[in-house]
Amino acid sequence: MDTTVEMDIEIKEVKESKISEVDFNNIAFGNIYTDHMLIADYKEGSWQDVKIVPYEDLKLSPATSALHYGQSIFEGLKAYRNEQREEEVLVFRPWENWKRLNESAKRICMPELPEEIFMQGLEELLKLDKNWVPKGRGKSLYIRPFMFATDAYIGLKSSETYRFMIFASPVGAYYSQPVKVKIENHFVRSANGGVGYAKVAGNYAASLYPAKLAQDEGYNQLLWTDAKEHKYIEESGTMNVMFMIGDTLCTAPAGDTILHGITRKSVLELARDWGIKVEERFVSIDELIDAIEKKELKEAFGTGTAATIAHIETIHNDGIDYQLPEIEARDFSNKVLKELTEIQRGKKEDTREWIFRV
Ligand SMILES: *Cc1c(COP(=O)(O)O)cnc(C)c1O
Repeated sequence: MDTTVEMDIEIKEVKESKISEVDFNNIAFGNIYTDHMLIADYKEGSWQDVKIVPYEDLKLSPATSALHYGQSIFEGLKAYRNEQREEEVLVFRPWENWKRLNESAKRICMPELPEEIFMQGLEELLKLDKNWVPKGRGKSLYIRPFMFATDAYIGLKSSETYRFMIFASPVGAYYSQPVKVKIENHFVRSANGGVGYAKVAGNYAASLYPAKLAQDEGYNQLLWTDAKEHKYIEESGTMNVMFMIGDTLCTAPAGDTILHGITRKSVLELARDWGIKVEERFVSIDELIDAIEKKELKEAFGTGTAATIAHIETIHNDGIDYQLPEIEARDFSNKVLKELTEIQRGKKEDTREWIFRV
């Protein structure tokens, strides 16, 4: 973080903002975009041409290698209005997204991105589109950094050129309903030695069909299990998953099959600070069902940027729906959701250097 150098970003502003066309009281997820976007191109061995331009469609060759062989990675983070100082925008742990982008890049043979392109790019984009960060309860600006291979070449090889971009989308209040999940014992999301820990585009393509089958049966998402034995719980849909068993918070270790969630990391840090016993270890289906039957499973929830915390109300395994304790009784997950929300929105002091201010 201390090696950053100032960098020139060429800025081409929109002639007229589209913001007056947006009804901020009725925004769905992910279909409205702000006025500008950031672009950087990698060619001849270095990142160059960093610029901010009006949001517009891309022009691509049909042979663009990302479209065929999937060298494509992404990130997701949010900016919030400071509730104490409305002119300020707060971004939650963007340095972690930068680091994770580079872990993903490395795994699928893409060039790493310098911190200043990510951070200064983000800052300049937010300065220009600050008015797009919605005010009001639950609302935020979802930010999507991503990188993809741009060689127009259909031989299978690692591309020599790449594009990094950031665009952003205002999102409405995310009233996360408690979710019903189904334990998946056939399909796999992630295997040892694979790319499950990285935010690689293809991981999400592979999860759509199994998720659809579960949705057709009335479940919101899957509880993924390990690829080898389908014996241990790994993640919940596109969230990390945590269980409060007795008085111990358990979650799968962030190895190579588990996405290294920033919400996961933050929840664990708060839990440890509060003196709660934390175990980063795999929980087996048998242990989980046993804990439900003995009423030792107090809480179960997913963690991720979109919802922060998503309570799990039902877990399906092998023909049986298990109902979990009522949401109001879940002391830890309710407390941690409140704490994170207050830090993200400036209601509570940022004592951990989690917040980037614009
Ligand atoms: C993005 C993601 C998460 C959550 O990560 P956060 O950094 O907390 O948003 C968890 N699991 C998967 C598979 C993901 O893609």
